[in-house]
Amino acid sequence: MEKKRTEISELGEFGLIERLAEGLKIKNEGIIKGIGDDAAVYDVGDKYLLTSSDMLLEGVHFDLSYMPLQHLGYKAIAVNVSDIAAMNGTPLQITVNLGLSNRFSVEAVEAIYGGIRAACDEYKVDLVGGDTTSSHSGLVMSVTVLGTVEKELITYRNGARKNNILCVTGDLGAAYIGLQVLEREKQEFMANAEMQPQLEKYDYIVGCQLRPKARMDIIYELRDLNVKPTSMIDVSDGLASDSFHLCRQSNLGVAIYENKLPIDKQVYETAAEFSIDPGACALNGGEDYELLFTIPQDDFEKIKNHPDIHTIGYMQSASKGKSYVTGNQDVVELKAQGWRHF
Ligand code: ADP
Ligand code: MG
Repeated sequence: MEKKRTEISELGEFGLIERLAEGLKIKNEGIIKGIGDDAAVYDVGDKYLLTSSDMLLEGVHFDLSYMPLQHLGYKAIAVNVSDIAAMNGTPLQITVNLGLSNRFSVEAVEAIYGGIRAACDEYKVDLVGGDTTSSHSGLVMSVTVLGTVEKELITYRNGARKNNILCVTGDLGAAYIGLQVLEREKQEFMANAEMQPQLEKYDYIVGCQLRPKARMDIIYELRDLNVKPTSMIDVSDGLASDSFHLCRQSNLGVAIYENKLPIDKQVYETAAEFSIDPGACALNGGEDYELLFTIPQDDFEKIKNHPDIHTIGYMQSASKGKSYVTGNQDVVELKAQGWRHF
């Protein structure tokens, strides 16, 4: 009998992970959270230990024709630190696994490590190990981060409550539209090598794509403001898709307001150049690495004057579903495209 073959695209990334996780039995005491949040959680006594991994592949996550090696090293650390931030934690250690082809010189690897070191200094984490192998299919970088969090501060994806306010840090859509600019310049350069990329006008959005920041600054500020989010995730796949994770795990719906979305002027202008709706960039772009979190209404006063925290909607009952309130006050269903790797 022929064995059944299921395409990964039938399940999608999240469906595949769910299927792999099915029936997994936890064997050790102290594991508070396994698969399913931004980091795994382990009880080490007075605190929780957090672990998360993220992998970056040449040709899938980055293109070395426009990604400087230093920035790549920085980004690999920042996207991992971002997952610790999303648990309201503090990152402490990282390990770095590298797959290198003979295309890379020692100097090239040192350039990657220049970026890794810069990120380690910025986020105050220590590089404590890793693995180095050869690769036949481009550069592979996989990073694991460890962090801790006070038990009373841990923030999961599943703690949102009805009528909680939905907040997002920074602005959205910049990394996505920055990538469109980089791709366009690459095409133009390939068509005519005399063409030099004109990127000054796009410095902010290109920077967001090449060197995103993990928002540890916000985590420390929320602690100072005495605000503990009820739920939190970092925006890696896009606001819509990542807000769906908060909804699904908290068993709620959400309402997001188009005219509340924080979108930088450069994103508006460049989206217009590409004839893309800036709201769509913010909803579905991804790779923003901003923090998306919910707070009780009582905490609104504490954050309302924060220049980098924006209230974009609220959580509603699951039966009300997921709504997107457009600039014209039309209420439409919020759809998540997210990133599709498969
Ligand atoms: P994030 O975008 O925050 O990095 P992901 O969407 O990559 O999170 O992963 C969601 C959850 O699935 C996490 O708990 C992660 O550890 C887990 N996960 C992802 N891939 C695998 C895998 N191949 N095997 C087991 N768990 C996985
Ligand atoms: Mg995450």
